[in-house]
Amino acid sequence: MISAGLGIYAIAIPALLFVLLAGTEIIWPCRKLVLGRYPRWRTHALFFATNAIVGRLLSFLVVVGVAANWADANQFGALNLIALPVWVDAIIAFILLDFAVWFQHLIMHRSPYLWRMHAVHHSDRDLDVTTALRFHPFELIVSTVYKSAIVALLGVPVIVALAFELWLNTNALFNHSNIRLPRKLERVLRLFLVTPDMHLVHHSTLIDEQKHNFGFALTVWDRVFGTYRAESILGAENQKIGLSNIDDARPSGFMWSMKQPIT
Ligand SMILES: [Zn+2]
Repeated sequence: MISAGLGIYAIAIPALLFVLLAGTEIIWPCRKLVLGRYPRWRTHALFFATNAIVGRLLSFLVVVGVAANWADANQFGALNLIALPVWVDAIIAFILLDFAVWFQHLIMHRSPYLWRMHAVHHSDRDLDVTTALRFHPFELIVSTVYKSAIVALLGVPVIVALAFELWLNTNALFNHSNIRLPRKLERVLRLFLVTPDMHLVHHSTLIDEQKHNFGFALTVWDRVFGTYRAESILGAENQKIGLSNIDDARPSGFMWSMKQPIT
């Protein structure tokens, strides 16, 4: 089982990163917010609270606690077929899980049913660190079931499954944040990792641009499968964020956002 110490890191690292990014955004924002922080932040705090109970807890317990422990105990899954050092298993699992998450994101945009859930994330008219918390509980449940199946099929070691969840969460906080990185650093970083400028393109109101930059952590998948786009055709400064048919303050409301998939 997972030690309490690791569980604390899984909470403390994203929490610390959140505070750092939120503080940086407030002092040196990259873009001026369209709808501002309030009541968006309240709504996103409510998303976080809801997802902490029905989503993240479920995700942590099911993906890590059940799928990974079960695969470990039964020596099930592709990675258990050959005896490799744990660090080799870890690298293979990280790469495959990162691809699985990229692919899931692409399908979320392709399937009309799944898009209804994922559109809640895209309906935010601004992009900042709190947008990373804005996922409908329906979408988190779908992600949990999907990731659990992948973790079990691959036979991902428990510690690696936990580390991957942490990796995914910290990357999501980073690439949704409204911070400006030094240009040279950003250009080098985006060769490997999804940067805020790169993920911004994916949140464009233009549908064609939403179908690019699906990556949450590694940029390799978008580059290999031809879905990489460096910048909006309107330029980063003029690009609008959100959905083209929602140009009012409704996404700032919690109840409106919760009902969005079924309206
Ligand atoms: Zn998306």
